[in-house]
Amino acid sequence: MPATSLDQIVSLCKRRGFIFPGSEIYGGLANTWDYGPLGVELKNNVKREWWETFVHKRPDMIGTDAAILMNRRVWEASGHVTSFTDPLIDCKKCKARFRGDKLLEEKIGVEAVTVLTLDQIQPMMMAENVVCPNCGKNDWTPTKQFNMMFKTHQGVVEDAAALVYLRPETAQGMFVNFKNVIDTMRMRLPFGMGQIGKAFRNEITPGNFTFRTREFEQMEIEYFFDPSVTDWETLFEEWKALEWEWFTSLGLSPKRLRFREHTQEELAFYSTRTIDIEYLFPWGWGELSGLANRTDYDLAQHEQFSGQDLKYTDPDDPTRKFLPHVLEPTFGCDRSVLTFLLEAYTEEILENGETRTVMKFHPSIAPIDIAILPLSKKEHLIAKAKELYNKIVQETDLVVDFDVTGSIGKRYRRQDEIGTPKAVTVDFGSLGEDSAQGEKDTVTIRDRDTLEQIRVPIGELIASLER
Ligand code: ATP
Repeated sequence: MPATSLDQIVSLCKRRGFIFPGSEIYGGLANTWDYGPLGVELKNNVKREWWETFVHKRPDMIGTDAAILMNRRVWEASGHVTSFTDPLIDCKKCKARFRGDKLLEEKIGVEAVTVLTLDQIQPMMMAENVVCPNCGKNDWTPTKQFNMMFKTHQGVVEDAAALVYLRPETAQGMFVNFKNVIDTMRMRLPFGMGQIGKAFRNEITPGNFTFRTREFEQMEIEYFFDPSVTDWETLFEEWKALEWEWFTSLGLSPKRLRFREHTQEELAFYSTRTIDIEYLFPWGWGELSGLANRTDYDLAQHEQFSGQDLKYTDPDDPTRKFLPHVLEPTFGCDRSVLTFLLEAYTEEILENGETRTVMKFHPSIAPIDIAILPLSKKEHLIAKAKELYNKIVQETDLVVDFDVTGSIGKRYRRQDEIGTPKAVTVDFGSLGEDSAQGEKDTVTIRDRDTLEQIRVPIGELIASLER
């Protein structure tokens, strides 16, 4: 059973060092979050798994890491300057600001809202009696388009010429490097580029912990193909399955995942098909990742705006030059981390009636792989435990926690709450002395999920711990 409320996760994340409120000692900054020592391990593991799956293990994929600040013409070409907007609406009574479309969606559904023009949103909200979540009144200003790109200035002069945007997506960094990649990497179609990085959106209504923030990380792919050779519909189905598989292979239950097909009205004019993968969050279904056929729209726009030839030359027929089409699988990194946290959260009633909270992370994303726990604070137990700790850290790539504070029971509970798959207890049997079980030179390995404890000779410890 995963977390049933967001509060369970927010509180565990704070208590155990996963995610803290941003700038907390200054009273915070609304909707910003800092990953703590365990959160950064979890997030890095998620990024590593993604990179391994989609970049390292595929000969048809390469990675890039473009700059966050880009020439602002990039965003004119991509359409973000004119149309990366959300409908902003104010409550006349309490002055709170919201996204009109999102409030209306809760009443009449996504499909019914996507067919509305900007001017139709406010009258429909009045007619459907959509009330302000803040004060409960149904009294709205007309909607305004609000551009979500963060603006700043590059250099010392803060005038219009120095205006730059913080990128609202990582995707464009790959399109603008398409020519560099085909010139340097000898890639043949179909091939893809992958990138992980920060994106910034001045969201009108951020919230639900790390689900919607103004600064977040994306993991995106642009997969280029020749539309006269590759059937895009088959390729689309392949990527759809790969996205789903990645989430389920790391522990998300298919019961809480679904595809949502975008309707004709929702589709961008250049896209032939777009789907989202949604997760059943405690507040309802929400987008986790997406997949879109963007045709040759982006490369064509950048060709036009930059004046550069971005065509691909067919290696079998050098007279044939064309703009490839592209499928875009896109994953929210922070949203993925949030779903792994929600899904891992488990409360169990033990035989003795006590409740155990355990984070059942998939072992490959758990922040800590192994805990080394001396049974008590006796000096020779600590020395032996330290010796084992050093050995494991030097001989493996496992992340190891060494914990001596509190009773052994308390330490097991802490390791359960941070999701450490295995705990190694060093007791008198580990010292070459007889243990209660009459064993010598052995340690106990406790399994987080089954609570099973087995004794293993120290010489075999590393082999039995490796993932
Ligand atoms: P939404 O409809 O929730 O605003 P979107 O359709 O605008 O999302 P995309 O532009 O497709 O999102 O971005 C790709 C991915 O980036 C999303 O699937 C999501 O996981 C993530 N993402 C988008 N906006 C945010 C945000 N404000 N905070 C955290 N993650 C985000």
